Amino acid sequence: MHEQGISEEEIFEELERFSSLDTNFKKVMSSMCTLPHPIAIRAHQRFIHTNIGDPGLFIGTCEMEKQVIEMAAVLLKHDNPKEAAGHLTSGGTESNIEAVYHMKNRFMHAKDTNENDAGARSENAKDVKLNLIVPATAHFSFEKIANMFNLQLRKAELDSTYRVVPRSVESKIDENTIGIIGIAGNTEFGEMDPIGKLSEIAIKNNLPLHIDAAFGGFVYPFLKDQNELNQFGFDLPGVTSVSLDPHKMGFSVIPAGIIVFKNASVLDTSLDRIKVKTPYLTSNYQSTLTGTRPGSAVAATYAVMKYLGREGYQKNVAYCLDLTEYLFQKLIGIKLKPKFPAINIMVVEVGGVQQTTHIRRCLREQFGWYISETKTKVALRLVLMPHVTKEDIDQFVLDLKYILDNEDLECTCC
Ligand SMILES: *Cc1c(COP(=O)(O)O)cnc(C)c1O
Repeated sequence: MHEQGISEEEIFEELERFSSLDTNFKKVMSSMCTLPHPIAIRAHQRFIHTNIGDPGLFIGTCEMEKQVIEMAAVLLKHDNPKEAAGHLTSGGTESNIEAVYHMKNRFMHAKDTNENDAGARSENAKDVKLNLIVPATAHFSFEKIANMFNLQLRKAELDSTYRVVPRSVESKIDENTIGIIGIAGNTEFGEMDPIGKLSEIAIKNNLPLHIDAAFGGFVYPFLKDQNELNQFGFDLPGVTSVSLDPHKMGFSVIPAGIIVFKNASVLDTSLDRIKVKTPYLTSNYQSTLTGTRPGSAVAATYAVMKYLGREGYQKNVAYCLDLTEYLFQKLIGIKLKPKFPAINIMVVEVGGVQQTTHIRRCLREQFGWYISETKTKVALRLVLMPHVTKEDIDQFVLDLKYILDNEDLECTCC
């Protein structure tokens, strides 16, 4: 740090230089984020000073957070949205951490109760590793979560469309299973697991079922075709919590995630291990993972959800799906065989692992495109977010064709 501060003008010159190194999203088809809606930006600025970790000081912003959770509960088909509980988080990772934290607490709570009832505590039982069942497509945040809570991650098999096989999930359950994860819009393919079946399994085995809808939460509810294969909400009786990210397809600012628990009372008792006394704040207790939390993200999310409404989100999703269909046809036009997309994520095989990486690198180095690769299947992956246009796709496909036709290109970047 300088001894004396420098001028605002100089600082902003510096900031511009940093900003010019960042993307403006123009050629980005690797990210699940996009530019926030202007309404979200305006609301964000207005609430930039607010901290919902200290609720007594920001009663209005906390009221707004409650309403966002209620809107999310309605979107997730809760039959009594006021019974739901939840809050804004920094995104899918934090929401998933809280969901699993809750699962582990519930399990330990039940175990403590049973052991107390039996009047004896088995020493061996303490050393047993608890486990969590996830689809093999689970987001990498679950690797962190397994480490954090010392859990064994049991990865259930996928069918040929990259949706989890319910029989495989069920076969992995034992007396040390704390819960089941289902995904509504997996990160690599955008596919939805058979949540209805998972719900039945969860109920039969008396286990909580968390749905990771970080990406799909603002996509699937807005598809024109609503059928039982793309349902994942609280109308399925086994679903106990859902995460969905306003900072992905919700057009809010970063960081904005949402975690919703079906039942506030369940949350209250089983989260007692998170819940702590907060002696120097305006509240008595805090049961969120993080302390200070941005009310600006709440305001941005509230504003954009209210502004767009269902109709606005439906239009945006329709736009992204139209782009996806357009890209699909274009790729077929250059003799590739893309996977039929579930939503606005396109996966296309272009050869083996090395060839796939080579093509991704060349697209970046020669033409400035950011796309990614899938690991579950060796392929290129493109996310068609609202900032992408048909003109971008035309150019992208030309560039891709050029690279496919010029095998001797050398690309060493990234
Ligand atoms: C993006 C994503 C996450 C992680 O969300 P962050 O906001 O990056 O923490 C979790 N799960 C799924 C399915 C995702 O697509």
